[in-house]
Amino acid sequence: MSAIHKPGRKARQPTSVVTGGAGFLGSHLVDYLLAHGHRVIAIDNFVTGNIDNIAHHGGERAFKFIEQDVTEFLFLDEPVHYVWHFASPASPVDYLELPIQTLKVGSLGTHKALGLAKNKGARFLLASTSEVYGDPLAHPQTEAYWGNVNPIGPRGCYDEAKRFAEALVVAYRREHGMATRIARIFNTYGPRMRLNDGRVVPAFIGQALRNRPLTVFGDGLQTRSFCFYADLMEGLYRLMLSNVSQPVNLGNPVQMTVLEFAQAVIRICRSRSRILRQPARQDDPHQRQPDISRARTRLGWEPGMSLEDGLKRSIPYFREKVLGPDRKKGRMKNVVE
Ligand code: UDP
Repeated sequence: MSAIHKPGRKARQPTSVVTGGAGFLGSHLVDYLLAHGHRVIAIDNFVTGNIDNIAHHGGERAFKFIEQDVTEFLFLDEPVHYVWHFASPASPVDYLELPIQTLKVGSLGTHKALGLAKNKGARFLLASTSEVYGDPLAHPQTEAYWGNVNPIGPRGCYDEAKRFAEALVVAYRREHGMATRIARIFNTYGPRMRLNDGRVVPAFIGQALRNRPLTVFGDGLQTRSFCFYADLMEGLYRLMLSNVSQPVNLGNPVQMTVLEFAQAVIRICRSRSRILRQPARQDDPHQRQPDISRARTRLGWEPGMSLEDGLKRSIPYFREKVLGPDRKKGRMKNVVE
């Protein structure tokens, strides 16, 4: 905290604002910050977030929730030390359904969140994405790579919104001298992902638990690397407290094909599912793997959780969602139709 709290002053409890605080990553960040002694104000409009993700903090003095669209003016009548801008639809299915809201939260929402941080003299962190690299021609992706994005393709609304957001953050840093951070977040998974959000981790786990075919898009040879949410939280926190204003890739560098991932999910869920090929998605990045040298050297961070252990820690959450609230937890290894 020393960078923000003036030396010599009595230590105060830092206040963090988390936009998108009821979403998958936002709500885990809320948990992390509360556990690290922050007072937390979470803002969400529930377009893709869910009250269940933060309900366990109801009644806590250090936690406050505001239901608001962050593209509208953010007024807070209290000191703020850190602003974490996490609000955005983030799965390809969601942003295909919500292209205008995705563009608005990345542009207008980032503008309002930066305005709040500037007004409060707070430090600002943008949740950016590996999607700024588009369908990358450089592999693995370092932060120096400028990307290969189709602005008018189905992913354009998300990719360009985040690219604009990065440009706006840099403009605020240069023009107003603000302390800003940019995390380029690669595929991350864990409890609280929506079972039907379309992303590969909840899709495959849900299918495997029901012994239904795993829908592999295209030839399944496209690559991804999967970071457990708890590893990411640590990286985000280190980044916020660092003095690194350049973008930093945060993700797990262990790369695999989608087909290999499907096989791993079937094995770990002990499922009888088979694999079902489906048409490839337009502009689906063919390969994605973070080069995390900058995070390693500047933040001393790298993920520690193996895919196997991370999936084992995530599956109970999805199993409960698949079984429904009134079925007994853990009764079956997986769900038989
Ligand atoms: N994918 C798939 N089947 C699914 C969902 C996703 O084969 O049911 C593939 C998708 O084509 C992509 C990868 O899994 O290559 C990761 O997709 P996701 O939607 O999780 O996010 P992305 O990494 O594309 O942003």
